[in-house]
Amino acid sequence: MNKLDSSLITSALLESGFELTDHVTDADVVLINTCSVREHAEARVFSHLGHLKHIRKSNPALVVGVIGCMAQRLGSELLAHDAVDIVAGPSQIPQIPSLIAEVLSQRCPRLAVTARIRDRLADDQSQQLDQFEHAYDSDENNIPGQAFIRAMRGCNNFCTYCIVPYVRGPEVSRPPRMIVEQAKRLAGRGVRQITLLGQTINAYRHTDGDRRYTLADLLEMVSSVDGIEWVRFITSHPGRFDESILRVMAELPGVCPYLHIPAQSGSDRILAAMNRGYTAGGYMRLIDRARQIVPGIAIAGDFIVGFPGETEQDFEETVELVREARYKNCFVFKYSPRPGTRADADEKLADTIPQDVKKRRNTELLAVQDAISEQDNRRFMGRTLRVLVEGLSKKPHLNRAENEDMPQLIGRTAGDYIVVFNGPESLAGRFADVQVTKTAALTLFATLATNDNHQSETVR
Ligand code: SAH
Ligand code: SF4
Repeated sequence: MNKLDSSLITSALLESGFELTDHVTDADVVLINTCSVREHAEARVFSHLGHLKHIRKSNPALVVGVIGCMAQRLGSELLAHDAVDIVAGPSQIPQIPSLIAEVLSQRCPRLAVTARIRDRLADDQSQQLDQFEHAYDSDENNIPGQAFIRAMRGCNNFCTYCIVPYVRGPEVSRPPRMIVEQAKRLAGRGVRQITLLGQTINAYRHTDGDRRYTLADLLEMVSSVDGIEWVRFITSHPGRFDESILRVMAELPGVCPYLHIPAQSGSDRILAAMNRGYTAGGYMRLIDRARQIVPGIAIAGDFIVGFPGETEQDFEETVELVREARYKNCFVFKYSPRPGTRADADEKLADTIPQDVKKRRNTELLAVQDAISEQDNRRFMGRTLRVLVEGLSKKPHLNRAENEDMPQLIGRTAGDYIVVFNGPESLAGRFADVQVTKTAALTLFATLATNDNHQSETVR
Protein backbone atom coordinates (compact mmCIF):
# COMPACT_ATOMS: atom_id res chain seq x y z
CA MET A 1 0.00 0.00 0.00
CA ASN A 2 2.83 2.34 0.88
CA LYS A 3 4.73 1.48 -2.29
CA LEU A 4 1.62 2.41 -4.26
CA ASP A 5 1.25 5.72 -2.41
CA SER A 6 4.93 6.47 -3.03
CA SER A 7 4.56 5.70 -6.76
CA LEU A 8 1.54 7.99 -7.10
CA ILE A 9 3.24 10.83 -5.25
CA THR A 10 6.43 10.41 -7.29
CA SER A 11 4.42 10.52 -10.48
CA ALA A 12 2.52 13.65 -9.36
CA LEU A 13 5.74 15.41 -8.33
CA LEU A 14 7.51 14.54 -11.58
CA GLU A 15 4.59 16.05 -13.44
CA SER A 16 4.80 19.25 -11.43
CA GLY A 17 8.45 19.66 -12.40
CA PHE A 18 10.40 17.91 -9.64
CA GLU A 19 13.19 15.44 -10.35
CA LEU A 20 14.29 12.44 -8.31
CA THR A 21 17.73 12.33 -6.81
CA ASP A 22 19.54 9.35 -5.29
CA HIS A 23 21.37 11.40 -2.69
CA VAL A 24 19.67 13.05 0.21
CA THR A 25 22.35 15.74 0.31
CA ASP A 26 21.38 16.84 -3.25
CA ALA A 27 17.69 17.11 -2.40
CA ASP A 28 15.58 20.26 -1.94
CA VAL A 29 12.71 18.19 -0.59
CA VAL A 30 12.73 14.89 1.30
CA LEU A 31 9.50 12.97 1.85
CA ILE A 32 9.38 9.98 4.19
CA ASN A 33 6.42 7.70 3.60
CA THR A 34 5.70 5.87 6.83
CA CYS A 35 4.13 2.75 8.31
CA SER A 36 2.64 2.47 11.82
CA VAL A 37 1.94 -1.26 11.93
CA ARG A 38 4.88 -2.00 14.26
CA GLU A 39 6.86 0.25 16.57
CA HIS A 40 10.13 -0.63 14.89
CA ALA A 41 9.06 1.02 11.61
CA GLU A 42 8.24 4.23 13.48
CA ALA A 43 11.54 4.16 15.36
CA ARG A 44 13.39 4.03 12.05
CA VAL A 45 11.56 7.16 10.87
CA PHE A 46 12.73 9.05 13.96
CA SER A 47 16.27 7.94 13.28
CA HIS A 48 16.00 9.23 9.66
CA LEU A 49 14.64 12.50 11.03
CA GLY A 50 17.65 12.79 13.32
CA HIS A 51 19.88 12.43 10.28
CA LEU A 52 17.87 15.02 8.32
CA LYS A 53 18.08 17.47 11.20
CA HIS A 54 21.83 17.18 10.89
CA ILE A 55 21.73 17.71 7.10
CA ARG A 56 19.55 20.79 7.58
CA LYS A 57 22.41 22.42 9.46
CA SER A 58 24.32 22.72 6.19
CA ASN A 59 21.19 23.10 4.02
CA PRO A 60 18.62 25.12 6.01
CA ALA A 61 16.37 25.43 2.91
CA LEU A 62 15.75 21.67 2.85
CA VAL A 63 12.02 20.86 3.09
CA VAL A 64 11.15 17.65 4.99
CA GLY A 65 7.75 15.96 4.90
CA VAL A 66 6.52 12.96 6.85
CA ILE A 67 3.58 11.37 5.07
CA GLY A 68 1.40 8.28 5.47
CA CYS A 69 0.15 6.37 8.50
CA MET A 70 2.56 7.73 11.07
CA ALA A 71 1.69 11.26 9.99
CA GLN A 72 -2.00 10.50 10.51
CA ARG A 73 -1.33 8.85 13.87
CA LEU A 74 0.92 11.51 15.40
CA GLY A 75 -0.17 14.67 13.56
CA SER A 76 0.97 17.87 15.28
CA GLU A 77 3.30 15.90 17.57
CA LEU A 78 5.38 15.07 14.51
CA LEU A 79 5.20 18.60 13.17
CA ALA A 80 6.82 19.73 16.45
CA HIS A 81 9.98 17.79 15.47
CA ASP A 82 12.84 20.14 14.53
CA ALA A 83 13.38 18.51 11.16
CA VAL A 84 9.75 18.39 9.97
CA ASP A 85 7.91 20.94 7.75
CA ILE A 86 5.04 18.86 6.37
CA VAL A 87 2.88 16.21 8.00
CA ALA A 88 0.31 14.66 5.63
CA GLY A 89 -1.86 11.57 6.20
CA PRO A 90 -2.78 8.86 3.65
CA SER A 91 -6.00 10.66 2.66
CA GLN A 92 -4.10 13.89 1.98
CA ILE A 93 -1.70 12.57 -0.67
CA PRO A 94 -3.36 14.58 -3.46
CA GLN A 95 -2.40 17.77 -1.60
CA ILE A 96 1.30 16.98 -1.30
CA PRO A 97 2.56 18.91 -4.40
CA SER A 98 0.71 22.05 -3.25
CA LEU A 99 1.82 21.62 0.38
CA ILE A 100 5.44 21.51 -0.81
CA ALA A 101 4.92 24.59 -2.98
CA GLU A 102 3.45 26.47 0.01
CA VAL A 103 6.33 25.56 2.30
CA LEU A 104 8.85 26.51 -0.39
CA SER A 105 7.26 29.93 -0.92
CA GLN A 106 6.09 30.78 2.60
CA ARG A 107 8.52 28.83 4.79
CA CYS A 108 5.86 27.83 7.27
CA PRO A 109 4.97 24.33 8.46
CA ARG A 110 1.91 22.50 7.10
CA LEU A 111 -0.28 19.91 8.81
CA ALA A 112 -2.79 17.96 6.69
CA VAL A 113 -4.43 14.98 8.40
CA THR A 114 -7.99 13.71 8.82
CA ALA A 115 -9.55 15.03 12.04
CA ARG A 116 -12.09 12.23 12.56
CA ILE A 117 -10.47 9.26 10.93
CA ARG A 118 -13.35 6.79 11.43
CA ASP A 119 -15.87 9.11 9.75
CA ARG A 120 -16.57 8.53 6.09
CA LEU A 121 -14.60 11.03 4.03
CA ALA A 122 -16.64 13.88 2.60
CA ASP A 123 -17.69 13.03 -0.98
CA ASP A 124 -15.45 15.69 -2.52
CA GLN A 125 -12.42 14.46 -0.61
CA SER A 126 -13.13 10.87 -1.55
CA GLN A 127 -13.51 11.90 -5.20
CA GLN A 128 -10.27 13.85 -5.02
CA LEU A 129 -8.47 10.71 -3.83
CA ASP A 130 -10.01 8.63 -6.60
CA GLN A 131 -9.10 11.21 -9.20
CA PHE A 132 -5.56 11.38 -7.92
CA GLU A 133 -5.16 7.63 -8.24
CA HIS A 134 -6.76 7.76 -11.63
CA ALA A 135 -4.61 10.59 -12.93
CA TYR A 136 -1.16 9.38 -11.89
CA ASP A 137 0.84 6.35 -12.82
CA SER A 138 1.31 3.69 -10.22
CA ASP A 139 4.20 2.00 -12.06
CA GLU A 140 6.49 4.97 -11.35
CA ASN A 141 9.62 3.96 -9.43
CA ASN A 142 8.39 0.37 -9.35
CA ILE A 143 9.52 -2.99 -10.73
CA PRO A 144 9.40 -2.80 -14.56
CA GLY A 145 6.29 -4.32 -16.10
CA GLN A 146 4.40 -4.29 -12.80
CA ALA A 147 2.01 -1.92 -11.07
CA PHE A 148 -0.35 -1.79 -8.13
CA ILE A 149 -3.92 -0.55 -8.27
CA ARG A 150 -5.86 0.13 -5.12
CA ALA A 151 -9.19 -1.68 -5.13
CA MET A 152 -10.08 -0.74 -1.56
CA ARG A 153 -9.11 1.83 0.99
CA GLY A 154 -9.27 1.42 4.78
CA CYS A 155 -10.47 -1.42 6.98
CA ASN A 156 -13.50 -2.10 9.21
CA ASN A 157 -12.19 -5.19 10.96
CA PHE A 158 -10.65 -3.92 14.18
CA CYS A 159 -8.33 -6.81 14.92
CA THR A 160 -7.35 -5.92 18.50
CA TYR A 161 -3.60 -5.54 17.74
CA CYS A 162 -3.95 -3.46 14.58
CA ILE A 163 -3.50 0.26 13.95
CA VAL A 164 -4.65 0.21 10.31
CA PRO A 165 -8.35 1.10 10.91
CA TYR A 166 -7.22 4.15 12.92
CA VAL A 167 -4.84 5.50 10.30
CA ARG A 168 -6.41 4.43 7.00
CA GLY A 169 -10.05 5.02 7.98
CA PRO A 170 -13.21 3.08 7.03
CA GLU A 171 -13.45 0.54 4.24
CA VAL A 172 -14.28 1.93 0.78
CA SER A 173 -14.31 -0.04 -2.48
CA ARG A 174 -13.30 1.94 -5.58
CA PRO A 175 -15.47 1.81 -8.72
CA PRO A 176 -14.49 -1.05 -11.05
CA ARG A 177 -14.74 1.27 -14.05
CA MET A 178 -11.90 3.42 -12.70
CA ILE A 179 -9.79 0.38 -11.85
CA VAL A 180 -10.20 -1.05 -15.35
CA GLU A 181 -9.39 2.31 -16.99
CA GLN A 182 -6.21 2.50 -14.90
CA ALA A 183 -5.29 -1.05 -15.90
CA LYS A 184 -5.75 -0.14 -19.58
CA ARG A 185 -3.53 2.91 -19.30
CA LEU A 186 -0.86 0.96 -17.44
CA ALA A 187 -0.99 -1.82 -20.05
CA GLY A 188 -0.35 0.86 -22.67
CA ARG A 189 2.80 1.81 -20.76
CA GLY A 190 4.10 -1.77 -20.89
CA VAL A 191 2.72 -3.04 -17.58
CA ARG A 192 2.05 -6.79 -17.74
CA GLN A 193 1.12 -7.55 -14.14
CA ILE A 194 -1.37 -5.75 -11.94
CA THR A 195 -1.62 -6.33 -8.20
CA LEU A 196 -4.95 -5.23 -6.77
CA LEU A 197 -4.61 -3.94 -3.23
CA GLY A 198 -6.87 -3.88 -0.20
CA GLN A 199 -6.51 -4.68 3.49
CA THR A 200 -9.30 -7.26 3.16
CA ILE A 201 -9.48 -7.45 -0.60
CA ASN A 202 -11.89 -10.39 -0.62
CA ALA A 203 -14.47 -8.02 0.94
CA TYR A 204 -14.44 -5.86 -2.23
CA ARG A 205 -18.02 -4.81 -3.05
CA HIS A 206 -19.24 -2.11 -5.38
CA THR A 207 -22.79 -1.34 -6.39
CA ASP A 208 -23.57 0.54 -9.59
CA GLY A 209 -27.33 0.80 -10.21
CA ASP A 210 -28.59 -2.77 -9.79
CA ARG A 211 -25.24 -4.33 -10.66
CA ARG A 212 -23.15 -5.60 -7.74
CA TYR A 213 -19.47 -6.22 -8.30
CA THR A 214 -17.34 -8.58 -6.19
CA LEU A 215 -13.62 -9.33 -6.24
CA ALA A 216 -14.29 -12.26 -8.60
CA ASP A 217 -15.93 -9.83 -11.08
CA LEU A 218 -13.08 -7.37 -10.74
CA LEU A 219 -10.45 -10.07 -11.36
CA GLU A 220 -12.29 -11.14 -14.47
CA MET A 221 -12.54 -7.55 -15.73
CA VAL A 222 -8.89 -6.64 -15.10
CA SER A 223 -7.53 -9.92 -16.47
CA SER A 224 -9.36 -9.34 -19.76
CA VAL A 225 -7.62 -5.97 -20.33
CA ASP A 226 -5.41 -6.27 -23.45
CA GLY A 227 -1.75 -6.50 -22.49
CA ILE A 228 -2.37 -7.42 -18.83
CA GLU A 229 -1.24 -11.02 -18.57
CA TRP A 230 -1.19 -11.58 -14.83
CA VAL A 231 -3.45 -10.19 -12.10
CA ARG A 232 -2.92 -10.86 -8.42
CA PHE A 233 -4.47 -9.45 -5.27
CA ILE A 234 -3.38 -8.91 -1.66
CA THR A 235 -4.38 -9.32 1.14
CA SER A 236 -7.24 -11.71 1.85
CA HIS A 237 -8.97 -12.07 5.20
CA PRO A 238 -10.07 -15.63 6.04
CA GLY A 239 -13.49 -14.45 7.26
CA ARG A 240 -16.24 -14.44 4.61
CA PHE A 241 -14.00 -15.65 1.82
CA ASP A 242 -16.18 -16.34 -1.20
CA GLU A 243 -15.39 -19.38 -3.34
CA SER A 244 -16.17 -17.44 -6.51
CA ILE A 245 -12.68 -15.92 -6.11
CA LEU A 246 -11.13 -19.39 -6.24
CA ARG A 247 -13.24 -20.36 -9.22
CA VAL A 248 -12.06 -17.42 -11.38
CA MET A 249 -8.53 -18.28 -10.31
CA ALA A 250 -9.02 -21.86 -11.51
CA GLU A 251 -10.72 -20.85 -14.75
CA LEU A 252 -8.82 -17.77 -15.90
CA PRO A 253 -5.14 -18.27 -16.79
CA GLY A 254 -4.54 -14.54 -16.20
CA VAL A 255 -5.51 -14.72 -12.52
CA CYS A 256 -2.41 -15.85 -10.62
CA PRO A 257 -2.84 -18.97 -8.46
CA TYR A 258 -1.56 -17.17 -5.40
CA LEU A 259 -3.36 -16.42 -2.15
CA HIS A 260 -1.89 -14.34 0.67
CA ILE A 261 -4.21 -15.15 3.52
CA PRO A 262 -2.86 -14.43 7.00
CA ALA A 263 -3.94 -16.80 9.80
CA GLN A 264 -2.11 -14.77 12.52
CA SER A 265 -2.35 -17.70 15.02
CA GLY A 266 -3.28 -21.37 15.21
CA SER A 267 -4.85 -21.06 18.68
CA ASP A 268 -8.60 -20.47 18.84
CA ARG A 269 -8.19 -18.71 22.17
CA ILE A 270 -5.70 -16.24 20.69
CA LEU A 271 -7.70 -15.82 17.47
CA ALA A 272 -10.70 -14.82 19.60
CA ALA A 273 -8.58 -12.37 21.62
CA MET A 274 -7.33 -10.94 18.32
CA ASN A 275 -10.95 -10.52 17.14
CA ARG A 276 -10.17 -12.35 13.90
CA GLY A 277 -13.62 -13.93 13.61
CA TYR A 278 -12.59 -17.49 12.60
CA THR A 279 -11.12 -20.61 14.19
CA ALA A 280 -8.01 -22.56 13.21
CA GLY A 281 -10.28 -25.36 11.97
CA GLY A 282 -12.32 -22.96 9.83
CA TYR A 283 -9.11 -21.53 8.39
CA MET A 284 -7.77 -24.98 7.50
CA ARG A 285 -11.05 -25.93 5.81
CA LEU A 286 -10.71 -22.82 3.64
CA ILE A 287 -7.12 -23.72 2.71
CA ASP A 288 -8.19 -27.28 1.82
CA ARG A 289 -11.02 -25.94 -0.31
CA ALA A 290 -8.63 -23.55 -2.09
CA ARG A 291 -6.36 -26.50 -2.95
CA GLN A 292 -9.31 -28.53 -4.21
CA ILE A 293 -10.58 -25.78 -6.49
CA VAL A 294 -7.16 -24.48 -7.60
CA PRO A 295 -4.75 -27.43 -7.62
CA GLY A 296 -1.19 -26.27 -6.96
CA ILE A 297 -2.28 -22.88 -5.58
CA ALA A 298 0.55 -21.11 -3.72
CA ILE A 299 -0.56 -19.94 -0.28
CA ALA A 300 1.29 -17.45 1.90
CA GLY A 301 0.52 -16.53 5.49
CA ASP A 302 1.24 -13.98 8.21
CA PHE A 303 1.62 -14.78 11.90
CA ILE A 304 2.03 -12.71 15.03
CA VAL A 305 4.01 -14.40 17.82
CA GLY A 306 3.97 -13.23 21.42
CA PHE A 307 0.45 -11.81 21.30
CA PRO A 308 -0.66 -10.97 24.88
CA GLY A 309 -1.34 -14.16 26.83
CA GLU A 310 0.15 -16.51 24.21
CA THR A 311 1.23 -19.66 26.11
CA GLU A 312 3.62 -22.38 24.89
CA GLN A 313 0.51 -24.45 24.17
CA ASP A 314 -0.98 -21.66 22.01
CA PHE A 315 2.30 -21.32 20.17
CA GLU A 316 2.47 -25.10 19.60
CA GLU A 317 -0.97 -24.86 17.98
CA THR A 318 0.40 -22.20 15.63
CA VAL A 319 3.35 -24.46 14.76
CA GLU A 320 0.87 -27.27 14.10
CA LEU A 321 -1.18 -25.06 11.79
CA VAL A 322 1.93 -24.05 9.84
CA ARG A 323 2.86 -27.73 9.47
CA GLU A 324 -0.61 -28.57 8.20
CA ALA A 325 -1.05 -25.57 5.91
CA ARG A 326 2.19 -26.15 3.97
CA TYR A 327 2.54 -22.53 2.93
CA LYS A 328 4.74 -21.35 0.10
CA ASN A 329 6.13 -18.89 2.63
CA CYS A 330 5.13 -17.08 5.80
CA PHE A 331 5.79 -13.69 7.28
CA VAL A 332 6.21 -13.84 11.04
CA PHE A 333 6.03 -10.75 13.25
CA LYS A 334 6.73 -10.24 16.93
CA TYR A 335 3.74 -8.61 18.61
CA SER A 336 4.24 -4.87 18.91
CA PRO A 337 1.74 -2.97 21.08
CA ARG A 338 0.26 -0.01 19.20
CA PRO A 339 -1.18 3.02 21.00
CA GLY A 340 -4.89 3.50 20.34
CA THR A 341 -5.70 -0.09 19.38
CA ARG A 342 -8.26 -2.20 21.25
CA ALA A 343 -5.50 -4.31 22.82
CA ASP A 344 -3.86 -1.13 24.06
CA ALA A 345 -7.06 -0.11 25.84
CA ASP A 346 -7.64 -3.54 27.42
CA GLU A 347 -5.70 -4.43 30.58
CA LYS A 348 -6.21 -8.14 29.90
CA LEU A 349 -4.26 -7.66 26.66
CA ALA A 350 -1.18 -6.00 28.15
CA ASP A 351 2.08 -6.81 26.33
CA THR A 352 3.36 -9.42 28.78
CA ILE A 353 5.39 -11.83 26.65
CA PRO A 354 9.12 -11.13 27.11
CA GLN A 355 11.09 -10.04 24.05
CA ASP A 356 13.36 -13.11 24.13
CA VAL A 357 10.33 -15.43 24.09
CA LYS A 358 8.89 -13.54 21.10
CA LYS A 359 12.23 -13.82 19.38
CA ARG A 360 12.55 -17.56 20.02
CA ARG A 361 9.01 -18.26 18.79
CA ASN A 362 9.66 -16.13 15.71
CA THR A 363 12.85 -18.06 14.84
CA GLU A 364 11.22 -21.42 15.57
CA LEU A 365 8.18 -20.77 13.41
CA LEU A 366 10.30 -19.56 10.51
CA ALA A 367 12.49 -22.68 10.80
CA VAL A 368 9.42 -24.92 10.57
CA GLN A 369 8.27 -23.07 7.45
CA ASP A 370 11.77 -23.11 5.97
CA ALA A 371 11.95 -26.90 6.18
CA ILE A 372 8.53 -27.15 4.48
CA SER A 373 9.49 -24.73 1.68
CA GLU A 374 12.78 -26.52 1.16
CA GLN A 375 11.02 -29.84 0.79
CA ASP A 376 8.09 -28.64 -1.31
CA ASN A 377 10.28 -26.63 -3.70
CA ARG A 378 12.11 -29.80 -4.77
CA ARG A 379 9.14 -30.68 -6.94
CA PHE A 380 10.17 -27.89 -9.32
CA MET A 381 13.51 -29.53 -10.13
CA GLY A 382 13.97 -29.85 -13.90
CA ARG A 383 10.67 -28.18 -14.72
CA THR A 384 10.31 -25.26 -17.13
CA LEU A 385 8.46 -22.34 -15.61
CA ARG A 386 7.25 -19.01 -16.89
CA VAL A 387 8.48 -16.00 -14.93
CA LEU A 388 7.92 -12.27 -15.11
CA VAL A 389 11.44 -10.84 -14.95
CA GLU A 390 11.99 -8.11 -12.35
CA GLY A 391 15.58 -7.12 -13.20
CA LEU A 392 19.04 -7.68 -11.77
CA SER A 393 19.16 -9.94 -8.74
CA LYS A 394 20.28 -8.44 -5.48
CA LYS A 395 23.66 -10.17 -5.82
CA PRO A 396 24.72 -9.14 -9.34
CA HIS A 397 28.40 -9.50 -8.43
CA LEU A 398 27.86 -13.27 -8.44
CA ASN A 399 27.87 -13.64 -12.20
CA ARG A 400 28.55 -10.28 -13.68
CA ALA A 401 32.32 -10.38 -13.85
CA GLU A 402 32.43 -13.68 -15.69
CA ASN A 403 29.40 -13.03 -17.83
CA GLU A 404 28.60 -9.37 -18.28
CA ASP A 405 26.00 -9.87 -21.00
CA MET A 406 24.17 -12.40 -18.91
CA PRO A 407 24.03 -11.06 -15.36
CA GLN A 408 22.02 -12.77 -12.65
CA LEU A 409 18.35 -11.82 -12.97
CA ILE A 410 15.43 -12.31 -10.68
CA GLY A 411 11.90 -13.23 -11.71
CA ARG A 412 8.74 -14.58 -10.18
CA THR A 413 6.30 -17.24 -11.29
CA ALA A 414 2.55 -16.66 -11.27
CA GLY A 415 2.53 -18.44 -7.90
CA ASP A 416 5.06 -15.83 -6.66
CA TYR A 417 8.00 -18.26 -6.43
CA ILE A 418 11.30 -16.39 -6.73
CA VAL A 419 13.59 -17.66 -9.50
CA VAL A 420 17.15 -16.49 -10.23
CA PHE A 421 18.88 -17.19 -13.53
CA ASN A 422 21.41 -15.63 -15.89
CA GLY A 423 20.06 -13.64 -18.80
CA PRO A 424 20.20 -10.28 -20.59
CA GLU A 425 19.10 -7.33 -18.48
CA SER A 426 16.80 -6.33 -21.34
CA LEU A 427 14.41 -9.06 -20.16
CA ALA A 428 13.35 -6.88 -17.20
CA GLY A 429 9.59 -6.31 -17.36
CA ARG A 430 9.09 -9.22 -19.79
CA PHE A 431 8.17 -12.87 -19.49
CA ALA A 432 10.78 -15.62 -19.84
CA ASP A 433 10.75 -19.39 -19.68
CA VAL A 434 13.36 -20.86 -17.38
CA GLN A 435 14.36 -24.39 -16.46
CA VAL A 436 14.95 -25.12 -12.79
CA THR A 437 18.39 -26.59 -12.01
CA LYS A 438 18.52 -26.26 -8.21
CA THR A 439 16.04 -25.52 -5.47
CA ALA A 440 16.24 -24.01 -1.98
CA ALA A 441 13.70 -22.86 0.61
CA LEU A 442 13.35 -19.29 -0.61
CA THR A 443 14.71 -19.45 -4.16
CA LEU A 444 14.62 -21.57 -7.29
CA PHE A 445 17.76 -21.46 -9.46
CA ALA A 446 17.34 -21.86 -13.20
CA THR A 447 18.71 -21.37 -16.70
CA LEU A 448 16.97 -19.61 -19.55
CA ALA A 449 15.08 -22.22 -21.56
CA THR A 450 16.28 -21.97 -25.15
CA ASN A 451 14.59 -24.75 -27.09
CA ASP A 452 10.91 -25.30 -27.67
CA ASN A 453 10.82 -28.88 -26.45
CA HIS A 454 9.86 -27.66 -23.06
CA GLN A 455 6.29 -26.73 -22.56
CA SER A 456 6.49 -23.96 -19.97
CA GLU A 457 3.98 -24.02 -17.17
CA THR A 458 2.34 -21.29 -15.28
CA VAL A 459 3.15 -22.42 -11.78
CA ARG A 460 0.73 -23.63 -10.10
N1 SAH B 1 -4.92 -6.41 6.30
C1 SAH B 1 -4.00 -7.46 6.44
C2 SAH B 1 -2.76 -7.11 7.24
C3 SAH B 1 -2.27 -5.74 7.41
S1 SAH B 1 -0.91 -5.51 8.50
C4 SAH B 1 -4.68 -8.63 7.11
O1 SAH B 1 -5.66 -8.51 7.78
O2 SAH B 1 -4.17 -9.71 6.97
C5 SAH B 1 0.26 -6.71 7.93
C6 SAH B 1 0.63 -7.72 8.95
O3 SAH B 1 1.30 -7.11 10.03
C7 SAH B 1 -0.52 -8.47 9.59
O4 SAH B 1 -0.96 -9.56 8.84
C8 SAH B 1 0.03 -8.90 10.93
O5 SAH B 1 0.59 -10.18 10.85
C9 SAH B 1 1.11 -7.87 11.20
N2 SAH B 1 0.75 -6.95 12.28
C10 SAH B 1 -0.29 -6.08 12.33
N3 SAH B 1 -0.31 -5.43 13.50
C11 SAH B 1 0.74 -5.90 14.23
C12 SAH B 1 1.24 -5.63 15.54
N4 SAH B 1 0.65 -4.75 16.34
N5 SAH B 1 2.35 -6.29 15.94
C13 SAH B 1 2.95 -7.19 15.13
N6 SAH B 1 2.52 -7.48 13.90
C14 SAH B 1 1.42 -6.85 13.44
FE1 SF4 C 1 -5.54 -4.78 10.53
FE2 SF4 C 1 -7.25 -6.79 10.87
FE3 SF4 C 1 -7.83 -4.77 9.18
FE4 SF4 C 1 -5.92 -6.52 8.55
S1 SF4 C 1 -8.11 -6.99 8.81
S2 SF4 C 1 -5.81 -4.28 8.39
S3 SF4 C 1 -5.01 -6.96 10.52
S4 SF4 C 1 -7.62 -4.62 11.40
